[in-house]
Amino acid sequence: MISKRVQGFTESVIREMTRVNNEYGGVNLAQGMPNFPPPKELLDAAHRAIDGDFHQYAITWGTPGLRQAIADKYMRFYGVELDPDRHVTVCCGSTETMLSTLLAVLNPGDEVIIFEPFYENYGPGCIISGAEPVFVPLEPPDFSFDPDRLAKAVGPRTRAIIFNSPNNPTGKVFTRQELELIADLCLRYDLLAITDEIYEHIIYDGRVHTPIATLPGMADRTITISGISKSYSVTGWRVGYAVASPEISLGIRRAHDFVTVGAPHPLQEAAVTALSLPDSYYVWLREMYQAKRDLLQGLVEAAGFVAYKPAGAYYILTDVAHFLRRFGFPDDTAFAMYLVKEIGVTTVPGSSFYAHPELGKTKIRFCFPKTDEMLEEAGRRLEKLARA
Ligand code: GLN
Repeated sequence: MISKRVQGFTESVIREMTRVNNEYGGVNLAQGMPNFPPPKELLDAAHRAIDGDFHQYAITWGTPGLRQAIADKYMRFYGVELDPDRHVTVCCGSTETMLSTLLAVLNPGDEVIIFEPFYENYGPGCIISGAEPVFVPLEPPDFSFDPDRLAKAVGPRTRAIIFNSPNNPTGKVFTRQELELIADLCLRYDLLAITDEIYEHIIYDGRVHTPIATLPGMADRTITISGISKSYSVTGWRVGYAVASPEISLGIRRAHDFVTVGAPHPLQEAAVTALSLPDSYYVWLREMYQAKRDLLQGLVEAAGFVAYKPAGAYYILTDVAHFLRRFGFPDDTAFAMYLVKEIGVTTVPGSSFYAHPELGKTKIRFCFPKTDEMLEEAGRRLEKLARA
C-alpha cells in the first residue's frame, strides 16, 4: 500500500530512542534538544506575538521582518550582504529547508555527495528528490576526509555536495583548508554546496565558523541552511531558513510553498528578537556548551568510553568496540538497548548515522544540551558499567 519511495525509510532512530527512553525511564541523552528553557527575551517576544495580530499565514517565504533580521545577522557575523527579498527563504525548521532545497535543485538521476557519518535526514531527502546519495567517509579520530576520495566521488551526474559543519554526530568543524578543497571541486565541476550550519554558534576552544558561501566564487553556488532551533534552544518552534542566490531561492520558495506553505507566523515574529540578541549572548552560549562538553566528556571517559572530543555542535560520538567484546553484544543497537534498560541512559546507536551500518557498529552518540544535574546523573548511572 505504500510507495516505493518511502518503503526504504525506517523510523528515525533518534526519535525512536526518545520513545524507548520514555518507556524505560532513562536519562535521555539521545535526541539533541535542550531540557532547559530558551532565553526569557524570546519567551516574552512569543507571548507578545500571540497577543498580537499574527495568526494568519505569513508571506510564504517568510515575514519581511524576519528575513531582514536574517540579512542583518549575516552582515554582523560574516560580513555578507544579503537582499532579504531575493536571497532569504524561511521554512519550517532546517529539516524542511533542506528538503525544499533538495527538491528545488535536484533532478531524478542526479548524484549528491554526502559525508558519512551524516545527520539522518540527508539520505531520505535525496531519495525523495529522486537523486542518489554517494558517500565519502569522515574517518576517526578527527573525522577528516581523504581529498582524493572526495575528488573521485565526483562523476558526470554529480550535482551537489551536502555537508554539515559544525557536524552532527561527530562534532567535527570543517577546516578552512577542507572548505577550500570542497569549493575547488564545486567550481571545477559546476557543483552546488548545500551546507547545514544549524550549529554555527556552538563551536569550541576559540574556533570560528566559516560559511563556505564566503569563499571566493561560492556565494552563488552555495545554499546555506540554518535556523533558530539550536542557537536559541527552541527546537520545537520549527523556524529555519535558506540563504541562496536569487535564482535558487526562487526554486526553494516554489518547493516550500507546496510542502508547508509557511513557518508559524507568531514564532517568526518572535524569531526576530532571537536574531537581534547582542553578541554577548553568543559568548555565553559557547561558554555554556563548552562547559557541558567538558563535563560529559569527562563522565563518559571515566565510564570507559573512547570519546572523540567535539570541536562544535552538542554531541559526543564514542567508540564502544571494547564494551561489545566484553559484554558479548553484536552491535551498537544491542548495546544502546542495554544502556537504556540496565544502565538507565539513552543514547543513539552510531549506525543510524551511516548508510553502511557496519561502519557505525561500534559507535554510540551522546548529546549534552542538558542541565549539569542531568549530565551528572547520567555519569553516575554509567559508572555501573565498570562493575557490570
Ligand atoms: N538534530 C537533533 C539530533 O540529531 C534532533 C533530531 C530530530 O529529532 N530531528 O538529535
